[in-house]
Amino acid sequence: MTATHALGFPRIGARRELKRALEAYWRGEIDQNGLLRTGRDLRTRHWALQTRAGLDLVAVGDFSYYDHVLDTSALFGVIPERFGSNVGEVDLDLYFRMARGRAPRGEDVAACEMTKWFDTNYHYIVPELARDQSFALHSRALEAQIEAAAEEGLRSKPVLIGPLTYLWLGKPRGAPFDKLTLLERLLPCYGELLRRLAGRGIEWVQIDEPILVCDLDEAWRAAFQQAYQALGAQNPKLLLTTYFGGLGENLELALQLPVSGLHVDLARAAGELREILPRLPEGKVLSAGVVDGRNIWRTDLAAWLEPLQRAQERLGERLWLAPSCSLLHVPVDLANETKLDAELKSWLAFAVQKLEEVALLGRVLANGRSSVAQDLAANRAAIAARRASPRIHNAAVRQRLDTITPAMGRRASPYSKRAPLQHARLNLPLLPTTSIGSFPQTQSIRAARRDYLAARLNRAGYEERMRAEIEQTIEAQEALGLDMLVHGEPERNDMVEYFGERLEGFASTQQGWVQSFGSRCVKPPIIYGDICRAGPMTVEWIRYAQSLTRRPVKGMLTGPVTILQWSFVRDDQPRAVTCRQIALALRDEVHDLETAGIKAIQVDEPALREGLPLRGSERPAYLQWAVGAFRLASAGVRDETQIHSHMCYSDFNDIIEAIAKLDADVITIEASRSDMELLEAFTRFDYPNEIGPGVYDIHSPRVPSVAEMLARLQKAAEVVNWQRLWVNPDCGLKTRGWEESQAALANMIAAARQLRSQMEG
Ligand code: GLN
Ligand code: ZN
Repeated sequence: MTATHALGFPRIGARRELKRALEAYWRGEIDQNGLLRTGRDLRTRHWALQTRAGLDLVAVGDFSYYDHVLDTSALFGVIPERFGSNVGEVDLDLYFRMARGRAPRGEDVAACEMTKWFDTNYHYIVPELARDQSFALHSRALEAQIEAAAEEGLRSKPVLIGPLTYLWLGKPRGAPFDKLTLLERLLPCYGELLRRLAGRGIEWVQIDEPILVCDLDEAWRAAFQQAYQALGAQNPKLLLTTYFGGLGENLELALQLPVSGLHVDLARAAGELREILPRLPEGKVLSAGVVDGRNIWRTDLAAWLEPLQRAQERLGERLWLAPSCSLLHVPVDLANETKLDAELKSWLAFAVQKLEEVALLGRVLANGRSSVAQDLAANRAAIAARRASPRIHNAAVRQRLDTITPAMGRRASPYSKRAPLQHARLNLPLLPTTSIGSFPQTQSIRAARRDYLAARLNRAGYEERMRAEIEQTIEAQEALGLDMLVHGEPERNDMVEYFGERLEGFASTQQGWVQSFGSRCVKPPIIYGDICRAGPMTVEWIRYAQSLTRRPVKGMLTGPVTILQWSFVRDDQPRAVTCRQIALALRDEVHDLETAGIKAIQVDEPALREGLPLRGSERPAYLQWAVGAFRLASAGVRDETQIHSHMCYSDFNDIIEAIAKLDADVITIEASRSDMELLEAFTRFDYPNEIGPGVYDIHSPRVPSVAEMLARLQKAAEVVNWQRLWVNPDCGLKTRGWEESQAALANMIAAARQLRSQMEG
């Protein structure tokens, strides 16, 4: 029989139960048993959802208390030495210390690095691999979960990260070496694990190798052969899963690996089904990932009926169905959205609804269309209604897109002519000091917002509170002696959601949380229609801030690429078009800020790099439209208006040219965590405009010393002309407290003054 399954389910819980339990445990309010109980309850509930939807196999091992890559490190004993040697089975506190540097028990230590999972906004804990890394299997936790599933009588399919993807995600510790040299030592652990699972009666294991959708060189391709020759022949059967894109030139490799099944992402690469069918080796299962695991739209089931029936004619029971990837990247349950209007809701599917879609398609294949005629009709009606809805089409926006000219993406003069005008107008010292935008989002700010949303505080009262915050933030910055000020962003719940709530074509959810890392979740807005601005979104706040001081206050906007990247986007037009619509709306906001007398405007693009496609061949086109959108948003200002941008990642060696093409007058960028590693890029590439490499890490409450920051500044001044340097932290201060922020900024300003007098002296 056609098997239906899911590659993974969100673990955070429909009400973010895991977040609450984790944070309570970290604060010492509940003990380990309490946390473990929440974990168990969530797993049981998520298995039940899969069974109730009618799926044949339930995913086990996709749950995690922090991150599934960290789980894999624990599973194979990849524990950096600073956490102790021979630690054996990793207990929860060691696990949390690896993830975040601290836990209720054990000393604080430097946490492992965290980075983005492929092209998603989910962050994983980077495995640290030593040249002489040894591996040892510690599968007690995983096996306990399998046992629990067995006790409930479930047919479970354990989920593992494959050996090659695991090594690919790891980072060599110390001097660089070829990570593939570790494969031979890692494989026996996988072998042993698979034998143990076979012993438990497991028939199928899902083994994730998403790197098969990336550009692989010959050595990695050969390593796939080596690994799966070793693992694929035995029991249990392996379902090799690929996602986040098509297999492209790795298709033949993936088809020929000696495993029992292959899962492909047909949401991102629908065309590959046609290529695979005639070439799938005899006896091999094909799991078709037809329901998009990366977006929230209801699947157009009718569009899949023909292709799937053709596939079934060829493959029979060897055709399986699933979402394209783990459902980790979508919210849990649409049923919890009580404020979305019925029309919009009828267009959407969250994780639970996606399970139902997969099951429904499974029933079509098993029993024919007539068996589920009503459900299919309802689906067809919803898809048609969305397509025809006047809410998604705005003729004025379409017309305006047609009138975009190349000149709209260009400043009137080059930087060399703009800079003196800006400097004369702003009258700042050399090495000007500034911050990235947000100041601490205190409990009282959050309480005011909660009260406002619950109608305990009226709008005037809320705005009064925000103005008071702005006033205090301006005063604090003047007292510290910062040169370019910000209003502090107290009114912003989130840098994307805030704009999503103010732009037409966007909807916000109440419970649409998606895990970003550990206990942290984001609630991406949903872009469902053509986008335009109903009115100014930020002008009043900035104008107010500027009225309080003679120093320049930066206008503060989130850029078009970041708004796009951190939203669920419509799937009925290219991302580039949606991005251009956002850019036009922001262009109007930029214009209004300028008209209000604001002399510097920052357009943040922290997600520019994360949008980079996984395949090298697709990157130039992306960078072209992404840079174009930023320029469309920002280039409409006069020469003397200074455009800033901010990015927070440091490995931008591969996109430095694109960043220069943004043609921002000033960029501020994260640099301190990698100890100014990014400056390497500047020895190779002469960045033409002004730049502020962050001189301290805002992710930790530690207050860095003047000497430390001065050293970083001096390092920067070696590769960038110091007359084009700015002095600022790595990122915004919203997650920090006031006390530590003031202390750190005071030291930062002292460091800037010292370097100034050294340079001018
Ligand atoms: N201006 C934003 C802030 O300071 C930028 C945040 C970000 O880069 N993620 O909070
Ligand atoms: Zn940032």
